Amino acid sequence: MENPIEIGHLSASSINSYLDCGLQFKFAKIDKREPEAIAEALIFGTTIHKIIELYHHERSIGTRLSVMDVTAAFEKCYTEAFEQQAGKIQFKEGKDFDSTLLEGKSLLATYVTQFPETGLKVIGLEKAFSFQIEGVPIPIVGVMDMVEEDAGGNIVIVDHKTSSRSYSSDDIDKSLQLTIYGMAAKANGYADREIMLRFDCLVKTKKPKFEQYYTVRTEEDELRAMKKIQAVYRGIMQGVFIPNDTSWKCKGCSYQQCCRDWFAN
Ligand code: SF4
Repeated sequence: MENPIEIGHLSASSINSYLDCGLQFKFAKIDKREPEAIAEALIFGTTIHKIIELYHHERSIGTRLSVMDVTAAFEKCYTEAFEQQAGKIQFKEGKDFDSTLLEGKSLLATYVTQFPETGLKVIGLEKAFSFQIEGVPIPIVGVMDMVEEDAGGNIVIVDHKTSSRSYSSDDIDKSLQLTIYGMAAKANGYADREIMLRFDCLVKTKKPKFEQYYTVRTEEDELRAMKKIQAVYRGIMQGVFIPNDTSWKCKGCSYQQCCRDWFAN
C-alpha cells in the first residue's frame, strides 16, 4: 500500500509541473526521488538568473555593472556549478560546456546593453511570499525575482526568463505564474497599489534578444487561477498522477528510467 500523500505547500512551478506531467511531479515532489540526471538548461538558467540578480542588486545601490563584469561573473559561477555537479549533467544534442558558456556570455551582454533605463526603482529582489487561497489548506509560496516601483507608487512584479523563442500574447496573458504573483503581491502588502506584471525575457536566438512583456490581471483571472489551484490540490491529494508521455518535457526529463519502470509494472 502506498504511503499517504503529504505536501506542505504549492508554488507556481509545482502547479505547472503537475499540469505538465503528473507522474514527473509525483517522482519529484511526492516520492522525493533524486533526479537521474540534471539538465544543463537548469544549471544554465539558474546561473543566468543569479547574475541578473547581481546586476539589479548593484543597480539598486546606484552602480551599473559593465558587460565585462557580468560575463566574468557568469563564467565563474557557471564553471563552479558544473564542477559541483560533475558527471550528472545532461547536454542537449550539439551542446557542451564551452558552447553554453559562450551562449550565456552573449545573452548577458545583450541584457546589459538592452535593459532600458525606465526610471523604475528596485524595491525588492528575491522577495519570498506565502498566501492562502480558499479550499486549499496549504500555503501557496514562491519568490518574486524583482519588485519595482514607479514615481506614482505603482508596483511592477518582474520575473526573469530565458527562452528559446519569443513569448506569444497567450504565454503572457495566460501565465499562471504571473497571476499567482499578482495575487501574492496583493496578499503581501501591495493590495492598495496598482500592480503590473512583467516577464523580462532573454531569447536564445542566434542573435540573442531581450524582450519585456507587461501585463495585468483581473479579478476574473484570479478566480480562474484559484479554481485551477483547487483542482490541482484535489488531484494531488486523491493520488491522480497522470503521465503526459507526449510532452515536450519527456526529452529532458530527469526521471526517464523511473517512468519506464512505472509503465512496465
Ligand atoms: S518521461 Fe515524460 S511522461 Fe515520463 S515522467 Fe518524464 S515527463 Fe512524464
